[in-house]
Amino acid sequence: MRLFNMVTWEEVKRGDVTDIYFERTEEILRRKGLYDTWVAAEIVSHKLPNNWSWAVLAGVEDVCKLLEGLSVDFYSLPEGTVFRREVPVARVEGPYGVFCRYETAILGMLCQASGVATAAARVKLAAEGKPVYSFGVRRMHPAVSLVVERAAIIGGCDGGSLKLLSELGLKPVGTMPHALILVFGDQRGAWKAFDDVMPSDVPRIALVDTFYDEKVEAVMAADLLKEKLFAVRLDTPSSRRGSMEDIVREVRWELDLRGYRHVKIFVSGGLNEESVAKLAEAGADAFGVGTYISNAKTVDFSMDIVEVEGRPVAKRGKPAGRKDVFYCSSCMESMVLAAGSPKPRCPSCGELMENKMVKHVERGRAIAPKRSVLEIRSYVLEQLSRLTRRLQSRSQ
Ligand SMILES: [Zn+2]
Repeated sequence: MRLFNMVTWEEVKRGDVTDIYFERTEEILRRKGLYDTWVAAEIVSHKLPNNWSWAVLAGVEDVCKLLEGLSVDFYSLPEGTVFRREVPVARVEGPYGVFCRYETAILGMLCQASGVATAAARVKLAAEGKPVYSFGVRRMHPAVSLVVERAAIIGGCDGGSLKLLSELGLKPVGTMPHALILVFGDQRGAWKAFDDVMPSDVPRIALVDTFYDEKVEAVMAADLLKEKLFAVRLDTPSSRRGSMEDIVREVRWELDLRGYRHVKIFVSGGLNEESVAKLAEAGADAFGVGTYISNAKTVDFSMDIVEVEGRPVAKRGKPAGRKDVFYCSSCMESMVLAAGSPKPRCPSCGELMENKMVKHVERGRAIAPKRSVLEIRSYVLEQLSRLTRRLQSRSQ
């Protein structure tokens, strides 16, 4: 019996999450003796969401697990690589009958995770180094919560609220819900109880917009918990908002005036990259971002056949032949060349460029070294800082 209309991982692995035309294609190829026709199929995005000029590749680890055990090779840019449109990010090679039914799941894994990682990276850039936390678990189906949280952290979020993040070796982060305060019936009682019950390594972050004005409650919380208060969280409903930047400035002023300079200001509720940039400027110290990251537009990858039995071939509008993708390690330039081309020099700085299209799965065996979520995240942040420097130097 199927609970929750959810598929099982066994069904994904078996290739049952497929568009029916692939299953039909597989049957036709088998019946006509073409099942083992060798093809190379490339995964590429022809247009990035919102016309963004770059995106962050995520979901590669899941695709490797999907293809393990099939007689195919899988090449990919390393998970976390920043790429532009029309740059092939991955390639599957092998008998087409073996992998055609997996196209649906491969694309689904890459499209959603890359969309989330890209939105997270954009918010992280907007926050100008201040912490950003993923609070969007409640905005998508629970079945994909870990996929989305992982992608958000790869993209640059400093943490997420999902309890199960501990399975990835990460510590979930969170404050307190309005429900706690409403059940207690008064803010002070709830803040005090939180402080009494929670272990000392959980930061004391008081939610300060439940009954009264934010500045009144922020000062109340600081008067109650004094130096133990790590931060106040403003989650002001949109009907009460006006200028959130002004509210942040006002709360900062009132806290500072009373000697509570150590108390940080954490903002959540309907944030996106524009509002995070403005609030960071106004003095907010950290951000909880939900829908904008968790339900980000997908990066629409397509999977195009580029070689059949060693012959370059492609549908019109798509370049034929297998390709390598070269990156300059100092200035983020990338260059797409036919597979096997010698290393080119970077057109911007002259440095020798490196091929980043790496074999991850060889005849069904995973061969690329496994990287932790935090290692992939550092790789993303390092590229973002180079990207920012390059954009700044261009605008000067
Ligand atoms: Zn360069």
